This record gives sequence, C-alpha cells and structure tokens, in this order.
Amino acid sequence: MKQAPLPLELNWREMLHWRPPVLRFDEIEEAHFQHAQSQARLDHFVRSGLLALLIYNLFLLADREMVPDVFAVALKFRMFTFTPFALVLILIGWRFRSFVLLLPGALLESLLMLTGIVAAMSMGWLLVQSNSPYAGMYTAGLVPIIIYGNLVQRFRFRYALLFSVVVVGVAISCVWVRFGQQHPYDVFDIPLTLLVSLMCGHTLVINYRYELEERRRFQWSVRAQTLHKKLAASQAQLDEMSRRDPLTGVPNRRHFDEYVRLGWDQAAAEDAELGLLLIDVDHFKKFNDHYGHPAGDQCLKLVAQALQQKVPAEQGCVARWGGEEFIVALPGADGAQAMKVAQGLCDAVQTLALRHEASTTAPHVTISVGVAVCRPARMPGSVENLVASADAALYRAKEGGRNRAVAALSPVSG
Ligand code: GH3
Ligand code: MG
Ligand code: MG
Repeated sequence: MKQAPLPLELNWREMLHWRPPVLRFDEIEEAHFQHAQSQARLDHFVRSGLLALLIYNLFLLADREMVPDVFAVALKFRMFTFTPFALVLILIGWRFRSFVLLLPGALLESLLMLTGIVAAMSMGWLLVQSNSPYAGMYTAGLVPIIIYGNLVQRFRFRYALLFSVVVVGVAISCVWVRFGQQHPYDVFDIPLTLLVSLMCGHTLVINYRYELEERRRFQWSVRAQTLHKKLAASQAQLDEMSRRDPLTGVPNRRHFDEYVRLGWDQAAAEDAELGLLLIDVDHFKKFNDHYGHPAGDQCLKLVAQALQQKVPAEQGCVARWGGEEFIVALPGADGAQAMKVAQGLCDAVQTLALRHEASTTAPHVTISVGVAVCRPARMPGSVENLVASADAALYRAKEGGRNRAVAALSPVSG
C-alpha cells in the first residue's frame, strides 16, 4: 500500500520550483511571463556576459599582485579554461538564439548561475592554494562576482539566493581552511567575510525588488493589453450598433449616407452609374390601425429581411430610410438593371403574402418603388438630387396605383 508522505519529507521537484510567494504566478501566467521575458533576457545575458568575462580576466592584474605564487594557475584557469567555456556559452546564446529560446528557461538560468559559482569557487581555490601574505584579502574579489550575479546578470531571485549562499560558503570555507595558519593580514578574515555576506544580503534585496517590479510590470502590461482588446471590441460593437436600425436589423440612414457618398465618389472617378431606389410600404398607416403597432413592427422586419435578401452586399446596400421607407443604393447599375432590381423587390414583398385586409389596392402588403439612376462624372448634382428624383418617381408609383416600380423622368441635375 502506498504510504502518505511524512509532513517533513523533502519533495525535490517542489524545491526546485520554489519561489517566494510574491514572486510566483500561477502555472499559465508563469509560462507566459517566462516566454515574454526570454528574448530580452537572453540578449542581456550575452551582452553583460561578455563584459563580465572581460572584467573577470582583468582580475589577472590583481592575481599577479596579491597571489603571485599561483599566478600561473590563475592565468591557466581564467584565460584558458573559464574564458573559452564562457565564450562558447555566449556564442551559442548569440548564434543559435532561436534554438536556445526553445530550451527550458530553468536550464539557462541554472547554467548562468553555475558560471557565477565556478568563478567564485575558482577564486576561493586560488586563495587557499596561495601562500602569499595578501591571500586573505583576496576574498574581497568575491564582491564583484556577487554584484555580477545578483545585479548585473540579475539571476532570478531563487537562483540568486542559491548563488549567494554558495559565495558566502566559499568565503567562510576560505577562512576555515586557513584557520590556525599564521598570516600577517588574517585580521581581515572576519571583516572581509562579513563584507561578502552583507554584500550578498544587500544585493539580494535589490535583486528581489527588481524581480518583483518586473513581474508587476508584466502583470500591468497584460492587464492593459486585455483592457485594450476589450475596449477595441466594445468600440467595434458600438460602431456596428450605431450603424444598424434596431427594429429591422438592416443598416440605418447613418451607414447609408456614408455608403452612398463613397459610391458616388467612386462612380464619379470611374465614370460609372449609380442607381438608387426609394421604397415605401403601401397603406402602412392602415396596416397599423388594423393590426396594431406591434404587428406593424413585425411587418417592417419581414419586409426589411425580404429586401435585404434580394440585394446581396456585393450588389448594393439596403437601409431603413425612416418610418416605413427603405432605400437601396446600387453602384454600377444602369437604368434597366435598377428597374429589374426594383421589380424584384416588389415581387419579393408580394411573395411574403402578409395579409393586409385594410389595403384598398391589394390583399397583401405591397411596396412602391421610385427608381433613379445617374452618372456622377457627367452630371453635376449630388446624392440629394438623386434621392429627390427617386422620391418624385416614388410619388408617381403611388399615384399610379401602388405595388409597382417607376423610373424617374428627368436626369439628375444640381
Ligand atoms: P402610402 O401608401 O401612401 O405610403 O400610405 P401610408 O399609410 O403607408 O403612409 P403614411 O405616411 O400615411 O403612414 C406611414 C405610417 O407608418 C405612419 C406611422 O405610424 C407608421 N410607422 C412609421 N414608423 C413605424 C414603425 O417603426 N413601426 C410601426 N409599426 N409603424 C410605423
Ligand atoms: Mg411613407
Ligand atoms: Mg407608406
């Protein structure tokens, strides 16, 4: 039988992923955060890694003065072991950027932390190997390594913490190993170890605050992006709503005005024709009076749908002009084509077969259509003149007995 883990049992997997509570996102947000930061972080590693490597090798000057007896070893290690190894890492990060970005972030962070630890340990090792009277003060060389790891490279806090513990461990071990041996400057052992420890503490605080700020900035930017998307979506929705007639769902006059103005300019530019149909439901007042206003609304919806179905978006635009009137723009349609569409609309409404017992001209709901066509490039005038022509034609359709399409008599002029 499987036993429940003891409360104090160590879970290594969990320990590896440990972070202070405030530096932790949930799993998805953490992955998002790591991904968002990975490119900038890799670039930073490469650039500051090069700089740190240069400084690390400049320390050979200090080696020569302070631990001259192990200078040859220092040279061998700094220049011919550590430097090539670090250069290979930096080169991989630079040349194979996209491949490195695919690797788990933890691997990169661990590798970087290891370079810091190796640098610190190599210093400690040189120190204990040397018999130079100044070797004890060599511990101070750990300070730039701490600054490099915790502030310049800015290891993630949990790695910085582990790195700092190791560096303090190195400093203490050096004092420990040399303990009891007579050194002229061993009075500096404890103060220098304290200096290293305090340096670790202070830089860790800054490192922690930096990561906290970075995570907060990330959260704000995610929130800002989400808000921005929501705002854009609601703006699009508002724009859509402001262009639709709420009762019938077809475009409203505002949308139509824009559409027809564009159509007019385009027709003028291409020397093309522009057709316009003005539609009015026949005896609609009587329909309302007979069946009631809600039935009238329902009738308008059905008529609007029928009209829209007959005029696909690529052919033109059907809109509610106001009351029981609709309007249709037909870019590129000549007189015959516009008349054909208008007749089709009359037929479509008739096919709905909406009973209209109060009508004096037909047993069903019908429409009358006024048709006007113009060629904006050749005829001075405006959309308003075109509408006026269609309106005059509509009047004649009504006069002629309704349920019909009638073409405008005169050409449009200003
Ligand atoms: P004609 O055949 O000459 O066009 O006669 P008509 O009765 O259709 O014309 P009139 O202009 O006298 O009446 C239009 C009616 O349309 C009056 C008005 O109450 C009605 N109406 C306008 N808008 C709406 C609406 O949104 N819903 C309903 N139910 N009725 C509306
Ligand atoms: Mg009317
Ligand atoms: Mg009417």
